[in-house]
Amino acid sequence: MKDQIIRKIFNGLIYIHILHHGNKEWFYGSWMIDELKEHGYNISPGTLYPILKAMVEEDLLYKKEKNVNGKIRKYYTNTEKGNLLLLDLKKNLKELVDEVL
Ligand SMILES: [Zn+2]
Repeated sequence: MKDQIIRKIFNGLIYIHILHHGNKEWFYGSWMIDELKEHGYNISPGTLYPILKAMVEEDLLYKKEKNVNGKIRKYYTNTEKGNLLLLDLKKNLKELVDEVL
């Protein structure tokens, strides 16, 4: 498939971004889509939701459902494992930035 590597690289950055916010707060999917848009990532719900689902399955995020004006909204935040991964990623990211930029 064409552009698969490019997609993988950008997805990696999106995982880091998600863990960064999940470290500080509970967020929901459409909020994250807007947030990523502000940072120049155009990600569709069809791409984001499978990422969030996989992160819940791998124990990186907790999910809770909340009724907001009669609609069920899914909120996410980091698990302990997610926070530890974020710490690791930040070290690697700093190394990378120092070398590449
Ligand atoms: Zn952000």
